[in-house]
Amino acid sequence: MKATTEMVLADNLKSLNLSHMLRQLEPQLRQAREQSLDYSDFLLSLTEIEMEGRAENRLKRRLREAKFPLLKTLDTFDYQAALGLDRRLLHQLASGDYISQQRNVIFLGKSGTGKTHLATGLGVEACRQGITTRFVTGCALANELIEARQGHTLSRLLQRYARYGLLVLDELGYVPFSKEGAELLFQVLAERHERRPVIITSNLGFADWTQVFGEPTLTAALLDRLTHKAHIVTCDWESYRLKESLEGKGVYSGKKVKVTQKTTCRGSAPAPPEFNALEATGEAEKEKAG
Ligand code: ADP
Ligand code: MG
Repeated sequence: MKATTEMVLADNLKSLNLSHMLRQLEPQLRQAREQSLDYSDFLLSLTEIEMEGRAENRLKRRLREAKFPLLKTLDTFDYQAALGLDRRLLHQLASGDYISQQRNVIFLGKSGTGKTHLATGLGVEACRQGITTRFVTGCALANELIEARQGHTLSRLLQRYARYGLLVLDELGYVPFSKEGAELLFQVLAERHERRPVIITSNLGFADWTQVFGEPTLTAALLDRLTHKAHIVTCDWESYRLKESLEGKGVYSGKKVKVTQKTTCRGSAPAPPEFNALEATGEAEKEKAG
């Protein structure tokens, strides 16, 4: 192909927004010539590059929009440290069946047992499956809803939270909600009931949820909806965090250690630092591998 033709072709790809094809045009042309590729094989390979590039960008965008506080994937979860976890159930959840069946997933257990890790891992899997996902702590969501009501944007925010294909609600129970916060959170969850699933993590058993939501009738109604057809995973193994830090200091003895917890819920939670979306798409490893 003549140089001018290649230049016009590159311009056309640019005008058509086929940026991945444009980036790979030269090496692909070279390869086609060297290997005497068919026209159709050449075009197929180039269009596949565009499709893969776009799928990767979509995934990166979904991961960014999900606002996961840290990148935690299921393949970095150590099952040996979570004896009693039903691995088959976890694999089944990772496949996303619960999303199409509109079933919630609830992780219950004390701090450090990997609840946030597992919930994030499932969220990342959902993003890979093309599901719009949002991760938020119970406290941050309650604050966001209260602020939206004050700013007269509540109905828009409620609509947004109703639309996410998957909502991951982390740390429900660490901090009690105000009456207003509890009621607004109830609205979000009631709206999603039997329509779109929620993953919840909590350090409290269901019997103690009234402490968090205040009102017993509201709590009962909430639990009734949340637990209906839900997968409930009880994380009753040792805290991974505690075990790791004590092992690091060479003092792990299995003895109970007092853990201080957050007790206040002031203002809006700070925006979580963005994790490297490249890592989540496997790009970083590819880059490291050269
Ligand atoms: P929780 O939400 O139950 O308090 P986290 O998910 O925040 O616990 O876990 C605390 C830390 O320990 C995180 O860095 C998490 O990645 C890690 N962790 C917990 N359990 C495991 C596990 N089984 N394998 C690998 N890392 C784990
Ligand atoms: Mg957690």
